Amino acid sequence: VSEVTVVRGGLVWTGSDAVPGDVVITDGVITSLTADAPAGVTHTIDATDSLVLPGLINSHVHPGGSPLLRGIAEDNPLPSPGALYHNTVDFRLISWQHLRPDEIESLVAWEAAAMLLGGATTIVSEQVGDIDQWISVARRLGFRTDVGRIYPYPPHIANGTEISGKSYDAVLEGMQTGADLVERFDGTLDGRLTLHLAPHAPNTVPTQILAESAELARKRNVRLHLHIAQHPSEVQTVRSRTGLSPVRYLDDIGFLGPNVLATHLTYTDAEDWDVLARTGTNVVHCGSRKAREAVTSPFVELLDRGVNVCLATETYSHDLVDELKWSALLAKLRAGRVDRPDAKEMIAAVTTAPASALGRGDLGVLRAGARGDVTVVGLDGPFNGPAFDAARNLVYYSRASNVRHTLVDGRPVVADGEVVGVDMAQLHQQARTACQRVWQIANDLGQVNWRG
Ligand SMILES: [Zn+2]
Repeated sequence: VSEVTVVRGGLVWTGSDAVPGDVVITDGVITSLTADAPAGVTHTIDATDSLVLPGLINSHVHPGGSPLLRGIAEDNPLPSPGALYHNTVDFRLISWQHLRPDEIESLVAWEAAAMLLGGATTIVSEQVGDIDQWISVARRLGFRTDVGRIYPYPPHIANGTEISGKSYDAVLEGMQTGADLVERFDGTLDGRLTLHLAPHAPNTVPTQILAESAELARKRNVRLHLHIAQHPSEVQTVRSRTGLSPVRYLDDIGFLGPNVLATHLTYTDAEDWDVLARTGTNVVHCGSRKAREAVTSPFVELLDRGVNVCLATETYSHDLVDELKWSALLAKLRAGRVDRPDAKEMIAAVTTAPASALGRGDLGVLRAGARGDVTVVGLDGPFNGPAFDAARNLVYYSRASNVRHTLVDGRPVVADGEVVGVDMAQLHQQARTACQRVWQIANDLGQVNWRG
């Protein structure tokens, strides 16, 4: 017997417009967008006064870190000029060294729940350390995820804040571990789990290993994710080694291309943006994350050159609906323009753009034949309704609390604003206990100057 779910009575996002309609999902795949009720409906989801979107894609996160870091770093100056933001890596290392696997899993699950409540159905994870707990949580909660294990891991920390590569052999081993994970897990969990290779950045991974990573990715037909130009010290390191900017260096060694997702690109110039456009490299933008360092990254500049730009929450908050607003307003400020980016461009950055970056024509759209991944956002709240223009009311006035339902392969992951199968009160207790342990250890070690 087929499972037939109908998302009924909402405004359906076509990619350019919101039109009244129903979304019919049969055995995990969208079968029609007609208002005529099909036979044999097994589940009905009420989408009255709601915008029905393709399941949103959060294109770059580091699960397990945010609960440890919220409230610690804010308002404190950066530890050194040009440093990576505060001591995020120190906390990650302490947690992976000292917490039991079940404690790590509670942190990862707590953070995943936030991502799901924030509207995401597909989560692109740049995993710091083991991926086992994340896969376990993805299996349990039912979301879709594309995962890479960052190498080098653990990174070498210099001056308390800077990440640098470990020995050549250690980084190479990290790449091989990443490649083994691709072989073991790519395409599992009924196709909901895919893998990619995740070299950390051009300053922490040697040229030869970047080149081998690119070759491996081509052979195995998987994506490459990395951070580029995320902080000034990275740019300085690459320049002193090669005489080139990080983007031009990566172009020079043949690394860039349509199978690359590059995050941040904060410290870049017009020549770099042209290179990204020419090579078809996908960019992941994290507006509110970088604003914590009092900087913005290019957005409109990239869109104007035809670069495919995706949106992500990365660390701290995972309210992807709220991120639409943050990134839109920060990009308007940076561009000095009221009209750009617009609401449609923002929605594309969490739907069609990342689907294209991931090589998934069956995600990011609502059409017959696409996967049954759907995000339903109510537009009848005191802050965002009544809706005059569904797209604008979504982008500029909505937040996670407006996310009503999400479906992955037609199955409910968030229902009536609650994560299906999670006792949030109990999970909070577990996450709190784990966080308090890490905070205590960091304090006792005295090696982390995390009070600024
Ligand atoms: Zn990142």
